[in-house]
Amino acid sequence: MKILLIQPTGHEPLMDQIYLFEPLALEYLAAGLLLDNHDVRIIDARIEPDIKAIANDWNPDIVGLTAFTSHVNIARSLALQSHQLWPDCFVVIGGHHATVQPEDFNDDCFDAVVIGEGVFTLREIVTAIEHGGALIDIPGIALPCDEGMIYSETRPYTDLNALPFPARELTKHYRAHYFSEWFKPLASVRTSLGCTARCNFCALWSITAGKYLRRDPDQVVEELKGIDEPNVFFCDDESMCDSKRMATLATKIHQAGIRKNYFLYARVDTIVRQPELFRQWAAIGLKQVFVGMEACSDERLQRMNKGVTVAEQEQAVAILKKIGVIMYASFMVDPDYSHQDFDALIRYIRRLKLTYATFTVMTPLPGTQLYRDRKAELISHQPEMFDMLHSLFATHLPDKEFYHQMARLYEKAVPLYRVLPALAKFGVHGLVLRIKLFQRFLKRLRRAHLDY
Ligand code: SF4
Repeated sequence: MKILLIQPTGHEPLMDQIYLFEPLALEYLAAGLLLDNHDVRIIDARIEPDIKAIANDWNPDIVGLTAFTSHVNIARSLALQSHQLWPDCFVVIGGHHATVQPEDFNDDCFDAVVIGEGVFTLREIVTAIEHGGALIDIPGIALPCDEGMIYSETRPYTDLNALPFPARELTKHYRAHYFSEWFKPLASVRTSLGCTARCNFCALWSITAGKYLRRDPDQVVEELKGIDEPNVFFCDDESMCDSKRMATLATKIHQAGIRKNYFLYARVDTIVRQPELFRQWAAIGLKQVFVGMEACSDERLQRMNKGVTVAEQEQAVAILKKIGVIMYASFMVDPDYSHQDFDALIRYIRRLKLTYATFTVMTPLPGTQLYRDRKAELISHQPEMFDMLHSLFATHLPDKEFYHQMARLYEKAVPLYRVLPALAKFGVHGLVLRIKLFQRFLKRLRRAHLDY
């Protein structure tokens, strides 16, 4: 069968210029379908938005879509467009939002919704369509229905080692576009799924029912051997949870003679407890660690159930600095922030001498404890607002002033002289583009209050 998998555009195209990761989930799905000899194509609509121009004559039998919460309406319009272009096609949606809130796709533009890991589910759906099987017999799906969604039995989470390697050959014409900061071209590799922590604003640990699923290090090494890009992003929910496994992986990468630049997620407490692990990774190419710092007070960290302290954050900063690995620190601004809170965060980041800091608004994403606890307080249900840049709760400051302060964080927390050495990695042309992009981003952020 002919199957078209589409990575939707973001609702805010500016963000795709700040980072753009390969559509790994679709590459995994494609790899599963290729095992059954189907004809599979991937369109990355963030790079080639005109679906009609690319695939009109191809006439797919099945269209597969994926969506985060902020993509819900975009996925819906892609589903409608698919039905218009190819009236007989079957449209299936999966991904993060379909997993945490499948009922949002109870719409007749979708023929089926995949819940959870989709590689085997989609294979079974395609087989059922091809040979006339009953979809409801396939575990892990929901079928839209006027009287309410019809759910099949739950599919147990897939052993990551049973998955085929992602079909990166299907995105080869896009691959030069994937990047994050100066990591370009950039490949993404998943080594694990889930997390051992229980942050209340995060749905990732609950999606795997609290389990931390791991791939065998030998398998990861085999996959790395087939990757051409010099830069690799480990797009795990949290890479370093199992420090023993990651030490083994580092050893095996070294023994295999693979030399790449790595970028991964790690928690503050792991860095503090396992400095040797990070030293070992730095020796094989770890360049940058994305760390969710979230807040600069123990009281706020506790409220988030983050499981770390400010003292540990400071230690983690010192450890990575000593090793020579860049900390890409991310902070989550609570809508209840006052001027004093914004000022305190700026002072804290300056004191830690961070060279990279990014800021999101604390967002009650569906599937999180925060969402369940405070759903009644939401001031908007528009999917586009769940983009971590807009507040879904009433802000303590007047809304215009809140976004002004958000922009001020970017301007003041990391002084220009501190970020310049990192910016130099972009080269002169890249630096100019980056500065222009930064200015556009700040302008956009200052106007975010107008989006409600
Ligand atoms: S450490 Fe990161 S991945 Fe783990 S629960 Fe917290 S936010 Fe989620």
